Amino acid sequence: MAKIFCIANQKGGVGKTTTTVNLAAGLAKVGQRVLLVDLDPQGNATMGSGIDKRSVELSVYDVLLESASIKEAAVKADKCGYDVLSANRELAGAEVELVDLEHRDQRLKMALAAVEGDYDFVLIDCPPSLSMLTLNGLCSAHGVIVPMQCEYFALEGLTDLVNTIKQVHANLNKDLKIIGLLRVMFDPRITLQQQVSDQLKAHFGDKVFNAVIPRNVRLAEAPSYGLPGVVFDASAKGSQAYVEFARELVLRAPTL
Ligand code: ADP
Ligand code: MG
Repeated sequence: MAKIFCIANQKGGVGKTTTTVNLAAGLAKVGQRVLLVDLDPQGNATMGSGIDKRSVELSVYDVLLESASIKEAAVKADKCGYDVLSANRELAGAEVELVDLEHRDQRLKMALAAVEGDYDFVLIDCPPSLSMLTLNGLCSAHGVIVPMQCEYFALEGLTDLVNTIKQVHANLNKDLKIIGLLRVMFDPRITLQQQVSDQLKAHFGDKVFNAVIPRNVRLAEAPSYGLPGVVFDASAKGSQAYVEFARELVLRAPTL
């Protein structure tokens, strides 16, 4: 049965999409069967997996509105080694269309139930807001992976996310928990980042993943080639760190 994780953080630009595509590619590289679900209408994870969001016939939008199954809508990201349930602008409309529907926050969960045996991991790239889309992600998942930069306001932003997760846990999804915090765009030469990193470990203990993702320009360049960094340049420091992270997650998975 697949482990289903949301990659979430209420802030934008913190590395959610970069983490989702590179973790998916890293997991595929170490032999795992992976489905990436793009829940962000910007479709960055779709494009970053080499799938043109403007030309996909069926997307996560059709799945949420129950006009397609995941089996029908998911496509293979050939060079990346995983499957993608894509997203595009159409998804922004789903927010409004879901409002009057039954089980509006459980739609993705119900759809994933049919493919749980086909994958080892399902990774859901969430938009930066607490919308009905994010809620569908959180209701489907066993847990949340939180990418974060070790900056001054990092801990403050985390409080909101932790409260959201607590509320969803209490009311909608008893399984939901924080799987771990992933330090991204890390620069060890910056003293403040070291300090925040130490604070994180003091606060959250082993909820902080051992893997640390460095700031690495190859990871930022890769999306313009429609590839995760892990596939675009496997030897880059950032790519190696994501594969390390994938290994760590595979080791931890049985206990999650
Ligand atoms: P989010 O999905 O949270 O909005 P992104 O993954 O799109 O964030 O990342 C925001 C920007 O930071 C992108 O331009 C991305 O290429 C860049 N980026 C993310 N992680 C790294 C990293 N480890 N090193 C360098 N640039 C990164
Ligand atoms: Mg994103």
